[in-house]
Amino acid sequence: MSEWQFIDWIRSRTDAAHKSGPKVDPVILGPGDDAGIVTLQPETIAAVDMLMDGVHFELDKIDPALAGRKALAVNLSDIAAMGARPVCALISLALPAKGGLNVGQKMMEGIMKLADEFDVSILGGDTNSWSGPAVISVTVLGEPLPGRPTIKRSGARAGDWVLVTGNLGGSLGSKRHLTFTPRVKEAAFLNTHFELTSMIDLSDGLATDASHIAHESHVAIRLDPAGIPVSPDTQNGSAAQRLAHAMTDGEDFELMFTAAPEVAREILGKQPLAGVRVTHIGECVAGNPQLTWRDGTVIEPRGFEHFLD
Ligand SMILES: [Mg+2]
Repeated sequence: MSEWQFIDWIRSRTDAAHKSGPKVDPVILGPGDDAGIVTLQPETIAAVDMLMDGVHFELDKIDPALAGRKALAVNLSDIAAMGARPVCALISLALPAKGGLNVGQKMMEGIMKLADEFDVSILGGDTNSWSGPAVISVTVLGEPLPGRPTIKRSGARAGDWVLVTGNLGGSLGSKRHLTFTPRVKEAAFLNTHFELTSMIDLSDGLATDASHIAHESHVAIRLDPAGIPVSPDTQNGSAAQRLAHAMTDGEDFELMFTAAPEVAREILGKQPLAGVRVTHIGECVAGNPQLTWRDGTVIEPRGFEHFLD
């Protein structure tokens, strides 16, 4: 397959998707022209992520479709964390000169399958081949939910409760980091029905990502070690080691969010949200932006394990 044939193949797939897609497709012009055209609301939410063979995945060990899927999924997770709706994606592929088109085709299949599941259109992209390993960069454009605000990292207030979806830890060992479901539906449900004050998706691990909320919102966050939903994927080790995995492994792609106590209680009463459990893991309190356990022990974003001994 030549590069042109590859683009034609993408075009045939995306043309079909645009014709059979959601009732009102916001994409006016998909791949095949100099640029794509899409109708978006005045407030557009944009996220981009670049994944590289040998750094974020290893193509000699995994199906390239999973690498493609992940490249889109991490962006959908970021759009979800803003409380917004993903609309369309732009895909850039750098493919190895040898065997690259086959890899690219599989990557696109992984991307398009997940895009279909979330009604995300492929707006366009670019493909190049070179002497290096495969690189995928995906940009997703989204829009606010009708009549709802976007949710930032900076809105948490002292007194708010801290909640998290799903279970944490062991994502890399279990390969969940390749197959996770981005919490787009859960975020939409939460933002449609409740006033959330801040939200983030857990890509770097709860210890790091909760610190981002603390710093951006100028609050201290106190977590309850017994309340952290440790994933069964962290099978080996003591309870303390498993908790350390839940706090620092990263790539969980669950949502951590904050809300006033009365709102948080209502959310907890409504669960599971679309089958996903929500757990109350702590509170925001006035003070220096840092993470602590409820007994006051400081949780460092890095090297956290040492604090458990
Ligand atoms: Mg994020």
